[in-house]
Amino acid sequence: MIRRLAILGAAGDLSARYLLPAVARLQAQGQLPAGFAILGIARQPGSDEAFRRQMAERLARHAADLDPAARAAVIGMLRYRQADVSDAEQMAAALQPLDDEALLAYLALPPSVYAPAMRSLSAAGLPAGSRLVIEKPFGQDLASAQALNRLIAEQFGEAAVFRIDHFLGMQTVQNLLGLRFANRVFETLWRAAHVARIEITWEETLALEGRAGYYDASGALLDMIQNHLLQLMCLVAMEVPLSLSARDLRDRKLDVLRAVRRFTPEEVDRYTLRARYGAGRIGARAVPAYAQEPGVDPRRNTETFSQVTCFIDNWRWTGVPFILRTGKALARDRQEIAIHFRPVPHLAFEENEATPNVLRLLLAQERVTLNLNVLGAGDRFYLQEAVLDSPLAESPLPAYSRLLLDALRGDCTLAIRCDEAEEAWRIIEPITRAWQAGRAPLREYPAGSAGPA
Ligand code: NDP
Repeated sequence: MIRRLAILGAAGDLSARYLLPAVARLQAQGQLPAGFAILGIARQPGSDEAFRRQMAERLARHAADLDPAARAAVIGMLRYRQADVSDAEQMAAALQPLDDEALLAYLALPPSVYAPAMRSLSAAGLPAGSRLVIEKPFGQDLASAQALNRLIAEQFGEAAVFRIDHFLGMQTVQNLLGLRFANRVFETLWRAAHVARIEITWEETLALEGRAGYYDASGALLDMIQNHLLQLMCLVAMEVPLSLSARDLRDRKLDVLRAVRRFTPEEVDRYTLRARYGAGRIGARAVPAYAQEPGVDPRRNTETFSQVTCFIDNWRWTGVPFILRTGKALARDRQEIAIHFRPVPHLAFEENEATPNVLRLLLAQERVTLNLNVLGAGDRFYLQEAVLDSPLAESPLPAYSRLLLDALRGDCTLAIRCDEAEEAWRIIEPITRAWQAGRAPLREYPAGSAGPA
């Protein structure tokens, strides 16, 4: 297991909000090896002491529930070096404190710096056995993702690189595998003959929350659907893998991505939707229109809500819509995968209708529910709805801790492979191109509403 972590971009939001808390949780659970060391690198001047003070304050904010001793232990592991990571000499000098042990270099950097940082790391000559973690977004389009993949193949080799999608680190998401592949009752029905549609929804009440710098250049489609929601769709739609090895799992996910229909501009009009929020209220909170948020350039027409209806053209799924939907500043938080089964072919009950069964995986609540029709009270054959509702095991480790641990151990099962990353762009690029040409015009919805009609 790797014992050296270099965070490139250590002064940023991701590092303080997710990475250091993830390390602290591993520390609290005794999962870090003895002698674990962390080196933060960013451009701002600083010293070990100043960085430790700054991170102690941020860790107390973002991991307040953790044992203070675990937080203090992680702060004690920190060192800091100032460097521009796109400068090979500065990078080599910055890595000096990490001696010659294999290291995990976490690129918590703006995406524009991924390639220069990788070139500098390669020029610095990383110790044998070192690995890289790359955050989303992996490229801005297919060509840039392919260029990054070529660079990785030339300089490090695919096996050394972990493309992170933190949704795959969620225990409830992984539980899709348990539900599907260890229960005959679901897997036999898991196909077009029995399923009417599948909805994958990530809706949140959070608005922009000061992240215009990142979000306004990205938007809902690239921030959520291009990566996270397509990955969830892969787990929902994949064929049964031979094993849960990295190769089998990722081969089957890739099959799904390859089978997703590429849209013509007319299909983009028909099957996609984009909108941004106007002024409104979410509970007691007044939210300004997205276009008025500080740092937003309204002429970019960035969408804060996006819906794409995908079709997977293979034997199992032809004709079944997979509705991927995500939005900000909505009335409620709703994060779920819903499998809507078809109605029964013939209903012998004359009194009333049966509601089609729905299996829901509630991602935030870590629950699974199944809506059924049963007989209601009384002496008539009268149907009413019942819901089977079961909690799923909570993970001892949050998503980032789990994925970080995998990368330190060298287990790439939950990392995105190079071909998956490219295939996702082949699905999304026809949509972004058609949107740029004015297809599926941008709509508006009031903040605090259910989204565009
Ligand atoms: P920030 O802009 O907050 O931080 C970026 C960091 O990179 C800063 O510390 C910046 O420091 C440093 N940096 C930029 N250029 C250089 C350079 N040439 N040399 C050295 N350091 C540099 O971004 P985030 O932390 O929010 O995001 C980082 C990555 O993680 C992005 O790719 C983002 O898409 C991804 N991500 C972020 C999430 C989040 O919630 N924040 C969630 C999921 C993914 P300085 O300018 O001082 O050098």
